[in-house]
Amino acid sequence: SLPPIPEDSVQEEGDHALKENKMKIEEVQSTTKKQRIATHTHIRGLGLQPDGNAIPLAAGFVGQAAAREAGGLVVDMIRQKKMAGRALLLAGPPGTGKTALALGIAQELGSKNLSEEERIDSRLGVSVVPFCPMVGSEVYSAEVKKTEVLMENFRRAIGLRIKENKEVTELSPEETESVTGGYGKSISHVIIGLKTVKGTKQLKLDPTIYDALIKEKVAVGDVIYIESNSGAVKRVGRSDAFATEFDLEAEEYVPLPKGEVHKKKEIVQDVTLHDLDAANARPQGGQDILSLMGQMMKPKKTEITDKLRQEINKVVNRYIDEGVAELVPGVLFIDEVHMLDMECFSYLNRAVESSISPIVIFATNRGICNVRGTDMTCPHGIPVDLLDRLVIIRTETYGPAEMIQILAIRAQVEELKIDEESLAYLGEIGQQTSLRHAVQLLSPGSVVAKMNGRDTICKVDLEEVNTLYLDAKSSAKLLQEQQDRYIS
Ligand code: ATP
Repeated sequence: SLPPIPEDSVQEEGDHALKENKMKIEEVQSTTKKQRIATHTHIRGLGLQPDGNAIPLAAGFVGQAAAREAGGLVVDMIRQKKMAGRALLLAGPPGTGKTALALGIAQELGSKNLSEEERIDSRLGVSVVPFCPMVGSEVYSAEVKKTEVLMENFRRAIGLRIKENKEVTELSPEETESVTGGYGKSISHVIIGLKTVKGTKQLKLDPTIYDALIKEKVAVGDVIYIESNSGAVKRVGRSDAFATEFDLEAEEYVPLPKGEVHKKKEIVQDVTLHDLDAANARPQGGQDILSLMGQMMKPKKTEITDKLRQEINKVVNRYIDEGVAELVPGVLFIDEVHMLDMECFSYLNRAVESSISPIVIFATNRGICNVRGTDMTCPHGIPVDLLDRLVIIRTETYGPAEMIQILAIRAQVEELKIDEESLAYLGEIGQQTSLRHAVQLLSPGSVVAKMNGRDTICKVDLEEVNTLYLDAKSSAKLLQEQQDRYIS
């Protein structure tokens, strides 16, 4: 079963009913939250040896050996289906690579069945196994229900690999012997040999009939029948039960080329369940003037109802049964999990039990605190029943050498030149403030270097940048010192 959709909120009349169980796939655009993972593009996996030990610097990962090794074990457990109904919690101070670790796990998950290129799109560092990052506080919105936000993100983290066998027809026009039941496709029409009650004929058909023929898997030499209504073709099939007499003008019969080759070409498309929801949802609002105005003010807002999701689930299940598609559970990463409240936790409790739930990875930097909205005190602000399901991994703060290595990797990925002295200086800044702050100084540093007429970032550039920007801690300190000068 797919992650739960609350029964009580399902609309009675399915205005989104997907006609004839068909859904839009071709126009699906991936909605991966690329910006959010842009700073982690250098992470390509967990960088473990086959025996599970962490290589000090591998797959873009530096240090944090124990957490990476623990992550590797979780990947093994997922593969052996031993993580069903459970989730992972990364606990550690801010800026200790929790997001990076979750992304590394997603990429390792993809490594089993896929090739390296398929697993990670190297330009974007995007994993084919979906990785959906979100922050706990995202669930609080004036417009959307909390569980709705969670459900959308769950569906962003479940991928679907759709394999389509497209028939490619090649013709060899020089051999034009009449064949019964073959078909070919030219630019404007489809030619089909058919058997009518009057004998074997060939006839030009509307291209839409081509689809019907493909569905029937008609091959050269097959005999097929057509149901027609005053010349218009209604049905194509192998049984003569509905064959009608054709009354066609002689010139409409076209000789059919012999020697057609039907080739099957497998086309693979990776989408997420949310991509399918979004592509099949209709724009919100009706045609009245008020809703049109509403659409102008909030363009492109589409409405994904629970009814639509259920319809999509039905079609997805059918595709899976038919072997056309395969589910690829990915990773849903929920940072600052202590921001969630009881309603969210009870939804999550149910959702992780669903048989095709993505792997849910929570992260927090809180110790013992209240569960939001209650006076219940729990470790990490997570209720005990959910805590019971968690496997917990701790992340540690980095030393100067590790920070410098990470900064060097980021500079390389962002194609910035930086000298040793500057890297060491940035490492120091990182130790005093945070790794994230130090990483963020790289780009402005390169701008200042250019203004100073250089290609390579030098210490003076970073010193200049460092006086311009405050890290969060210094900013808070300044606020405290100068409290009387701000409006409170
Ligand atoms: P957290 O989620 O714990 O706050 P994070 O994963 O978001 O941490 P940042 O603090 O944003 O990490 O780290 C800044 C940069 O350093 C990011 O580009 C991140 O990918 C990278 N990074 C963090 N830890 C490591 C590591 N162990 N190896 C390589 N890169 C890392």
